[in-house]
Amino acid sequence: MKSDRGFSEERAQAVDRLVTLGYLRSRDVMRAMKTVPREDFLPVALRRQAYVDTPLTIGYGQTISALHMVAMMADALDLAAGQTILEVGGGSGYHAAVIAEVVAPLSGGHVGHVYSVEIVPELARFAQENLRRAGYAGRVTALLGDGSLGLAESAPYDRIMVAAAAPGIPGPLLDQLVDGGVLVIPVGDLYFFQELVRVRKEGPQLRRESLGGVAFVPLRGEHGWRTGR
Ligand code: SAH
Repeated sequence: MKSDRGFSEERAQAVDRLVTLGYLRSRDVMRAMKTVPREDFLPVALRRQAYVDTPLTIGYGQTISALHMVAMMADALDLAAGQTILEVGGGSGYHAAVIAEVVAPLSGGHVGHVYSVEIVPELARFAQENLRRAGYAGRVTALLGDGSLGLAESAPYDRIMVAAAAPGIPGPLLDQLVDGGVLVIPVGDLYFFQELVRVRKEGPQLRRESLGGVAFVPLRGEHGWRTGR
């Protein structure tokens, strides 16, 4: 079993590599990724691979995003302490913990919060347990539900991040975004040819920009792909 110290050295090196490769510019996200123990968000058998920059399977046909994708998306969200965030597709809870480190750091008394919605019951429980063990339960609320509908009861959100690919931008997510807010979402075909899109809401206008090609698992639910469970 690798020691905690071994993991923290690997973690720091992995984050430095992401910076060198140009995936990461925000100092706050760098600090967050050097703090959150990705090994604690993986099934035990995969812990040794925590800092390999690749998607890792978390069961139920789902994956935890590769490190560079977590970095890119967190960077693209333009996060700041105090913000309220919605994550659609909680998976392991890892990405939500990274975002919580930025919007609700333990120092400074910030009241930022992350709401994370997951549609697979077993994964919603997995995320809740991981977040609790890693010390994020007070800063991240992980819920079971169809995140393609957003989460109306805690809206509006300063930032919304979707971790699964959608056929289009779900209307409820735009409705639940504050004016001036940012939404980052992969949009495109099932499994292939998806584009990571950043949308900034400016009054009645939406400013849409492409952040490049990506490959995510499908978004399911009401405004997702109506496949399987
Ligand atoms: N951010 C995650 C990666 C999750 S992968 C992490 O850090 O581990 C994408 C997740 O989206 C999967 O767990 C999948 O079950 C979930 N998902 C797909 N459609 C969804 C929906 N409509 N609402 C909520 N979660 C959804």
